Amino acid sequence: MNVKLIGYSSNPEKIPAMAAKLTHSIAKPEDLENNPDDELNSILKHVLNLGHTSIIEHTSFTFAISDVSRSLTHQLVRHRIASYAQQSQRYVNLKKPNYVIPPKINANKIMKKAYQETMDIIWKQYNTLIEMNIPAEDSRYVLPNAACTNIIVTMNARSLLNFFELRCCLHAQWEIRILANLMLKELQKKAPIIFKDAGPSCKSKGICTENNKECPLYPK
Ligand SMILES: Cc1cc2nc3c(=O)[nH]c(=O)nc-3n(C[C@H](O)[C@H](O)[C@H](O)COP(=O)(O)OP(=O)(O)OC[C@H]3O[C@@H](n4cnc5c(N)ncnc54)[C@H](O)[C@@H]3O)c2cc1C
Repeated sequence: MNVKLIGYSSNPEKIPAMAAKLTHSIAKPEDLENNPDDELNSILKHVLNLGHTSIIEHTSFTFAISDVSRSLTHQLVRHRIASYAQQSQRYVNLKKPNYVIPPKINANKIMKKAYQETMDIIWKQYNTLIEMNIPAEDSRYVLPNAACTNIIVTMNARSLLNFFELRCCLHAQWEIRILANLMLKELQKKAPIIFKDAGPSCKSKGICTENNKECPLYPK
């Protein structure tokens, strides 16, 4: 899995802070830019603590994500408050086997061998179909959930907080959880106020929205 932050709003925290200040100010929004940074930062912290997260919709982030499974992207694109562009299996011929091995299978020598042999058979059949002039869009029907794919996703910061709450949680599947944690790590460098407490609800809200008392992170 590769995850790279390839773009984000300029002034990712200043603009939401200006938006917050604007709501209680006689000043014109363009003049709020001159407010001292520490004042804007404290407004942003205050408003976020109150739970008024609409202001952080004014800032967004774009990630390039590669070599993840189609299982992962199927889960990722369920997050509707986002924009996506994904490598097409209709137009791209995926001749070479490229797939994700789940860690629990990877850790078991016998299962790993069986898994790899299955993938070899799948790709052999895929390539046979392509050689028989079956279009890639139809040949791909034999490809597995494990097949690697590449995707670009853009989300605003509010949607990202929701994404991290759901997908950094131990209840989420390991692959998307790894992705979410890598994305969060990048964002904490670029927008530390917004993403300081981001993560599963046990971290961000001090409650377990799954109410899973067996979870090692269940709040005491
Ligand atoms: C651990 C886990 C297990 C899951 N298992 C399943 C499963 O078995 N089957 C399955 O189908 N899905 C499953 N999902 C997917 C889940 O149901 C959501 O579709 C997905 O997490 C996206 O969340 P979201 O709707 O909050 O995000 P977004 O689509 O980004 O929406 C963000 C927020 O915007 C609001 N919103 C968005 N669209 C609407 C709307 N149309 N109407 C009203 N409000 C809206 C909601 O407040 C929503 O929380 C699972 C998710 C997780 C984390």
